[in-house]
Amino acid sequence: MSIRLRFAPSPTGYLHVGGARTALFNWLLARHEGGAFVLRIEDTDRERSSDAHTQAILDGLAWLGLDLDEGPFFQSEGVERHAAQARRLLEEGKAYRDFSTPDELRVEAERQGIGHPSVLARRWAEEMGDEESDRRAGAGDPFAIRLRIPAGQTRWEDLVHGPMSFDNHDIDDFVILRADGSPVYNLAVVSDDAEQRIDTVIRGDDHISNTPKQILLYEAFGWDVPRFGHVPMILGPDGKRLSKRHGATAVEEYAGQGILPDAMVNFLALLGWNPGDEEEVMSRARLVERFSMERVNHTSAVFDTEKLGWMNGRYLAAMPAGDVVPLFVEALEADGWGGDAWSDREDGWLLELVALLKVRARSVNEMVEQARPFLGEVETYEESASAKQFEKDPAGTAERLATLAAAFAEAPEWDEEDLEEILREVAASLEIGAGKMIHPLRLAVTGRGISPGIFDVLVLLGREETLARVANACKHLSRLGDGDVS
Ligand code: GLU
Repeated sequence: MSIRLRFAPSPTGYLHVGGARTALFNWLLARHEGGAFVLRIEDTDRERSSDAHTQAILDGLAWLGLDLDEGPFFQSEGVERHAAQARRLLEEGKAYRDFSTPDELRVEAERQGIGHPSVLARRWAEEMGDEESDRRAGAGDPFAIRLRIPAGQTRWEDLVHGPMSFDNHDIDDFVILRADGSPVYNLAVVSDDAEQRIDTVIRGDDHISNTPKQILLYEAFGWDVPRFGHVPMILGPDGKRLSKRHGATAVEEYAGQGILPDAMVNFLALLGWNPGDEEEVMSRARLVERFSMERVNHTSAVFDTEKLGWMNGRYLAAMPAGDVVPLFVEALEADGWGGDAWSDREDGWLLELVALLKVRARSVNEMVEQARPFLGEVETYEESASAKQFEKDPAGTAERLATLAAAFAEAPEWDEEDLEEILREVAASLEIGAGKMIHPLRLAVTGRGISPGIFDVLVLLGREETLARVANACKHLSRLGDGDVS
């Protein structure tokens, strides 16, 4: 029988990167083993759950490309079954009624110096006897149902942590059905996992303490216990649990920042898993091929946004420019640019701009930032670059740029090779290094100290625009020379 895994988020918020990583590990294992990936929405907390959050989770999974084989199932739809199963354990004597209120139990346990109030609940149930218990239940007295925890040890072989063992003495006879008839979380999870024939449960480390209780429930029901694997927590770079303080924690925020889904998937896969060698940039197919629970780390993983940026840059650089164009245009529009910023340009101009920018940007949004000088006028010159390139010798710089511009004006072809040749000739005639021409030229035409290769920039700007920008820079330089820095 092939493996069946599930992702079981509670729809009480957006899809957090921790949840996304859990979903991904389940999905990778399902795809690696040719099994099924099931989604179950754990919406029993009616106050905190919402349809909007369910939709955000579905959207997040779709954006990441984690396709479902079954579901979404909704936990709230199984409440009748959960309750019926709790009553079944009661009938079989594996659970008992507790007619006390939680307060009563706590106060009395404290008075008697009993650490686990449930010890008292069990004692009261035994003292009451079945007959009286049935009579009170028949008379409509409200009661909770508690699982009778047997003596012994509860063990499992965790797929991440290896052998795990809990002394049952440390586990309360916990309530499985509340006095108001609502099932508790651990019962609902076990009942649903059994109903959906889940045989492997991969979830966060924060659920380890639930696992012995759930195993005891499986055993009480006489059902096969699934395999469990608890994946390590995700921490921020400061070693604290990942939270808003560390930046974006919602998957959709990363989408908004221009992160590509494939890069996000690759990055998340490496949060707590490693292939055992140096390979880092792995396609989805490659991840599916290599993923195994054996190589999931026991210790926490650190969410390093620098690395995510690096990873995204690698994916962006490798993508065909044509595929990046629509993403780029979308990001431009989100940034307030309209089509008129490029509509006058020749066909293919945008594609060339994208090809130039994508190899040096870490995200589509960073491309938008770097595209500004190509889309709009140069209005200001970056301060630190200006201090170096313009302010030291404004008059001399203006003169050299003017000489260069005059030579450019005569260029037979406006292409990289010709422009480079011209620049080198002019530099040689002025007896200066090419760098002494390139840096002020870059500042003149982009307003910045850093840009893609200068000759690529010039070609993309075109002759007219380049010459106009150099002329503007010369005017600015002459004002600087006159001591007017405005
Ligand atoms: N609903 C639980 C959560 O969001 C997960 C339950 C499970 O994976 O067993 O933390």
